[in-house]
Amino acid sequence: MARYDFATHRLYVPADLSPDAVVPLEPGALNYLLNVLRMDEGSRLLVFNGRDGEWEATLRKPTRKTAVLVLQRQTRPQEATGRIRYAFAPLKSARLDYLVQKAVEMGVARLTPVLTQRTQVHRLKDERLQANIVEAAEQCGVLALPALEPEIRLERFLAVLPPEEMLVFCDEDADITDPVIALRQRQPLAGITVLVGPEGGFTDEERARALAHPGLLRLSLGPRILRADTAAVAVLALVQSVYGDWTGSTVNEM
Ligand code: SAH
Repeated sequence: MARYDFATHRLYVPADLSPDAVVPLEPGALNYLLNVLRMDEGSRLLVFNGRDGEWEATLRKPTRKTAVLVLQRQTRPQEATGRIRYAFAPLKSARLDYLVQKAVEMGVARLTPVLTQRTQVHRLKDERLQANIVEAAEQCGVLALPALEPEIRLERFLAVLPPEEMLVFCDEDADITDPVIALRQRQPLAGITVLVGPEGGFTDEERARALAHPGLLRLSLGPRILRADTAAVAVLALVQSVYGDWTGSTVNEM
């Protein structure tokens, strides 16, 4: 049997999940299941809430216009959240949607929008970011939803970043060295914070502040300048494969 059942639609619900629980459907979810996915009485789907794992559920329609989900059995236990926090300079709308969705797929535990001097976006729409987190989790079977942190200015972010936290600083000005060797040479003692700048890059003043952090690991992502959303996928692949859950060992064993 495949590890994941991707044939069955997966739906995020905020409610607690337990055997035989009856989960009411909010209007948005109700409309989506009945009118978009054309589900009906008896339709089967998988639900998760980010806390209780993934559960098999059956759609029940007590009336023509209402529907509830009746839970049967848990199909997957709740996943532990990892220890990678992704700190990013917000990008313009579609690229930001993409960046957030990829970070969720890549298994980050926390998402921190960091406002830098060249950040082009200043009013973040949290509900849009949250919707992207949920959409990526539903599509990719992610059960541990990353926490979306409040936006913070870079200098404040670096000032309060604990000294024992590893700061993987993606620096487009860094000398090109093997990123895998650079990561393997360090053993993160606590959490891992990855920092990627805006389309316009970091200013020299911002770079100096990041380079001064005690947990600094300055990382080059090769000889080409990547778009910030490309950099997100590239650095998270490296960090997951050296320190994270791509190694095959669980976070607790690290
Ligand atoms: N000044 C360039 C850099 C911006 S790229 C420009 O305007 O296009 C956006 C961010 O992606 C950078 O701040 C950096 O965090 C990351 N990045 C892109 N290419 C990189 C590379 N080759 N090495 C390290 N980080 C990189």
